[in-house]
Amino acid sequence: MNGNRVYNFNPGPAALPLEVLEQAKEQFVAYGGEGMSLMEMSHRSGTVEQLMEETQMLLLEALALPAGYHVLFMGGGASSQFALIPMNFIGAGRPGSYVLTGSFAEKAYEEAALVGETAVAASSKAQKWAALPEQGDLSIAANSAYVHITVNNTIEGSQYRELPDTGDVPLIGDMTSDILSCRRDLSRFAMVYAGAQKNLGPAGVTAVVIRDDFAKEARSDIPVIFRYGTYVKNRSLYNTPPVHSIYMVNLVLQWVREQGGVAALEQRNRTKAKLLYDTIDASGGFYKGMVENKHRSIMNITWRMQDEALEKRFVQESEREGFAGLAGHRSVGGMRASAYNAVPLAACEALAAFMKHFQQRHG
Ligand SMILES: *Cc1c(COP(=O)(O)O)cnc(C)c1O
Repeated sequence: MNGNRVYNFNPGPAALPLEVLEQAKEQFVAYGGEGMSLMEMSHRSGTVEQLMEETQMLLLEALALPAGYHVLFMGGGASSQFALIPMNFIGAGRPGSYVLTGSFAEKAYEEAALVGETAVAASSKAQKWAALPEQGDLSIAANSAYVHITVNNTIEGSQYRELPDTGDVPLIGDMTSDILSCRRDLSRFAMVYAGAQKNLGPAGVTAVVIRDDFAKEARSDIPVIFRYGTYVKNRSLYNTPPVHSIYMVNLVLQWVREQGGVAALEQRNRTKAKLLYDTIDASGGFYKGMVENKHRSIMNITWRMQDEALEKRFVQESEREGFAGLAGHRSVGGMRASAYNAVPLAACEALAAFMKHFQQRHG
């Protein structure tokens, strides 16, 4: 516990910076000098337009992208992108190719298979998602409209260090659970997207970053509201956007800047994750990591224990000591600490200490 706030390791929706929550509270009833809440304002007002534009700029700046990318703010969560991507890009003889690395990757693939022609470029399902496919394992169908990867596998706890090389085929990345967590050459992507509720803000908005030439390849024979082109053309103001969520993203992005940007966050995230992985590795098998070392995620740290009864006990005792969100996803079991950007170093220090004490009591 830290004051009246627990150590929040929730996988998503997840911890937000306390400073951001405080600032939002202050501005909740009356925003700026407008005499009303942002939520009571027209999305056609100059104030909202300015907020949209500023938030787009802040995200481009934080991601260090070259010119030529658009930031779109869309509703429907990351899962909607699973459907919108194939709707916009799969065509006759132009399959969508997928690298399967976990359950969200599979979901994206299954949605696409309902829309059109798909292909599996590689899969680590046979290894129970404990590793990521290597470059040599990739087999990209000729004429693929795109290759889709899940950059960080939230449930399993794996994360790409190096991005796969897909040659001339546009690369799309689901970065919902690791956007802004570490420096990456994002110019390798034609498009990335992230539901906000892990590293960017509250639920309700999904950030899509799309290269202009790729956006122009999107189909225009699907409903207007589903076309990426509609959001590009109208700067995400075609219809009413989730203004409050975008406002919260804006505050988080300002916080990112104040922290020293992605480089500073990366350093802190690596320190946080190392504390937990070192504790796992030094436990003599009491805690067992679920992912091969070189593919371990710095955002979602997963491990197992001897049996489910002990894992249950771990969760119960951790909750009593002021930790939240440490049970693994119901589909895989085990334990998971989601140490997103807003989770402070002190929370990971406290968790590492708790893990050591727990082992002393039950090992
Ligand atoms: C959480 C998550 C999703 C699902 O996000 P929703 O916004 O709930 O649809 C998709 N992909 C990844 C990698 C996630 O972590």
